[in-house]
Amino acid sequence: MSQTLAAVSYLGAAILFILSLGGLSNPETSRRGNLYGIVGMALAVLATVFGPRVTPAGYAWILAAMVAGGAVGLYAARIVRMTQMPELVALMHSLVGLAAMLVGFANYIDPAAAGAYAGAEKAIHEIEIYVGILIGAVTFSGSVIAFGKLSAKISGRPVLLPGRHWINLAGLLVVVWFGWRFVGSPGVAEGMTPLVVMTAVALLFGVHMVMAIGGADMPVVVSMLNSYSGWAAAATGFMLSNDLLIVTGALVGSSGAILSYIMCRAMNRQFVSVIAGGFGTEGGASAASGGPRPAGEVTAVSALETAELLREAKNVIIVPGYGMAVAQAQHTVYEITKFLREKGVNVRFGIHPVAGRMPGHMNVLLAEAKVPYDIVFEMDELNEDFPATDVAMVIGANDIVNPAAQDDPTSPIAGMPVLEVWKAKTSIVMKRSMASGYAGVDNPLFYRESNRMLFGDAKKTLDEVLAALKG
Ligand code: NDP
Repeated sequence: MSQTLAAVSYLGAAILFILSLGGLSNPETSRRGNLYGIVGMALAVLATVFGPRVTPAGYAWILAAMVAGGAVGLYAARIVRMTQMPELVALMHSLVGLAAMLVGFANYIDPAAAGAYAGAEKAIHEIEIYVGILIGAVTFSGSVIAFGKLSAKISGRPVLLPGRHWINLAGLLVVVWFGWRFVGSPGVAEGMTPLVVMTAVALLFGVHMVMAIGGADMPVVVSMLNSYSGWAAAATGFMLSNDLLIVTGALVGSSGAILSYIMCRAMNRQFVSVIAGGFGTEGGASAASGGPRPAGEVTAVSALETAELLREAKNVIIVPGYGMAVAQAQHTVYEITKFLREKGVNVRFGIHPVAGRMPGHMNVLLAEAKVPYDIVFEMDELNEDFPATDVAMVIGANDIVNPAAQDDPTSPIAGMPVLEVWKAKTSIVMKRSMASGYAGVDNPLFYRESNRMLFGDAKKTLDEVLAALKG
């Protein structure tokens, strides 16, 4: 393939990626968006493999790598459960970081690349390598820790080392100092030590940064690492002088940054304080830490009584959370919605921006169950409608409906906007136990007079509610 054809293919792929992002911004066009992304990526891979920079001698290696990588990807995609998607995404981000690191080292020791630059160009190329490996290493280790936290292999509690900001500052100074030594080094032998030291510091920084972040801030971390993985890819693009990688990396990096901003706004948090860490378990009445619990008794209801309440309601708002994903209850939820709507009940869904374990988690599940988009609303769109609502059904959600965020300034999640389900005539919370949510904070909603608890696995209990409604 000629240089020009490869460049045109790259341009086409870049346009397809932009169209893909545009499509993904709306549930109705998201399938098309995905398709654009797939075609764009296929075009990018073909143009690279058959492009002018790969010699036929490399085909066997590329084919072997693609078969191995493709097989792992296919296997992972087949076995992953919907509830494991967030951790899979974190793992994928870590691979982008790892790739950036490896490409950086390979590029540095490649004798062909070393001979190709001199003077200012050599310095620029070395800065690209240094920064690329730096971002890659932070992304890699940070994403591995995020994977551990999201899959509950590592505790969600923030690990706050004494003087942690000073540790980070010292790390930054070390990175800058070794960067200076690296760029001025005459050859690979002299430059390798600063590069390896910086990589070690960056790996430790990634671990330290994500370990310090509390459960409630994880949504921002997930989107932030998404953004970092984009910048790591863009940095790799600079190292390899690959325009498409630069454009694609910048697209991912900036859309991840916008998502981080949206998540921060949804949680009423400053980005800098998220990075500083600790949100989600410090102080307050944490169920996990055995702190004082809100006073009062909870009122349990049965599936039969729930069906009765729903049958008599005119306005119902359903608030799904992580538990709906765990129970895979979305199809039954939609069956109940259909039944009630046929009986003239106004049923709507209220979606909190950080519900579940990844951005858009609930929207994906509801779309999978074919819930019509026009009855699915963002938190801001219907939060004022709760006082006029007969029944607010909370399905496996906890932190996103916690009134302590508004009422208790000492609560670890104080200030986070929440869905005000307690303002409905009756709220029904479906969960298996009195356990706290991801942020580890007890929920005073459960003890409110107008609240009922429907205990059990969401899928099983909703099946019973549906049977009672039909019966
Ligand atoms: P929560 O984690 O606060 O609560 C989920 C509740 O679901 C739990 O209290 C659990 O209670 C219940 N549950 C679990 N399994 C089942 C089941 N099979 N049937 C019925 N109930 C079940 O989830 P929310 O969606 O309310 O809030 C999201 C939280 O996750 C926030 O703290 C957010 O910051 C965080 N987060 C969000 C991310 C995102 O991008 N959206 C990423 C990372 C973290 P029980 O065990 O008693 O059943």
